[in-house]
Amino acid sequence: MTNRFAELLGERAPVFDGGYGWLLQERGLPPGECAEMWNIEQPETMSGLHEEYAQAGASVLTTNTFGGTAPRLAMHGHEELVEETNRAGAALAREVADRHGILVAGDIGPTGELLEPMGAMSADEARELFAAQLRGLLAGGIDLVLVETMSDLAEATLAIEVARELAPQLPIVATMSFDTNLHTMMGVAPADAITRLSAAGADVVGANCGRGPEEMSVIAEQLVAARPDGVLVIAQSNAGLPHLEGADFVYTVGPAELGEHARELRDAGVDVIGSCCGSSPEHTNAIRAAVTA
Ligand SMILES: [Zn+2]
Repeated sequence: MTNRFAELLGERAPVFDGGYGWLLQERGLPPGECAEMWNIEQPETMSGLHEEYAQAGASVLTTNTFGGTAPRLAMHGHEELVEETNRAGAALAREVADRHGILVAGDIGPTGELLEPMGAMSADEARELFAAQLRGLLAGGIDLVLVETMSDLAEATLAIEVARELAPQLPIVATMSFDTNLHTMMGVAPADAITRLSAAGADVVGANCGRGPEEMSVIAEQLVAARPDGVLVIAQSNAGLPHLEGADFVYTVGPAELGEHARELRDAGVDVIGSCCGSSPEHTNAIRAAVTA
């Protein structure tokens, strides 16, 4: 069975880039500030980070649009800028990707609101939030859609449905964060995630963020065991769990260790590997070396 993401990736190494949030803070984004605004206000800094990940060997660059839905932007008073922040974020990654002959994943994160009946957001409202974000991403030029760090299967499914409607030609990658006893915060197990999200239309399903490589290995095993035919598995671990050192959060898993982890994931049947919080281009470099060795 052909997989749309595999076809698009072609001969490129199956390696995604790593985290952006803490790198942006290292480059001067004050904690708690709106990362997506830097697509507009600090485009050179954002382009520079994409460039570093491209040079480190990533085949897929992720747009800096995790919090690009209206409720997330509203936390910073920027809910009017959904189209603009997403279009700018996609265009920045697009330019760098084109220089390197690599791909751009349009990043869609959770809305931050709970769906009915647990919360106040209706399915139609969620659809409209994701559609508005995706229209901006498409205008900026993306190659695939990345629905990431989801906890709620229903919310992830809605985002995938919107992507299939608005961009039926683009592959969809969907990840959940299994950070609570090997389940998502909402109680979803890896096997259920890969079954349901691939049925909804995702070409690649997996896990991102979480509690570090050790747990990621267990989660990956469960994903691989439950994968339907033709669906690829992705894993993007954090560089461990952050702990406070003085005033700074420090991640403890270095590039060599995450590279070793990537090799284990690949040997366990994971198809696509990246990294998440606390990782940097040096981690991507080690992952690339490990999976192409
Ligand atoms: Zn993360």
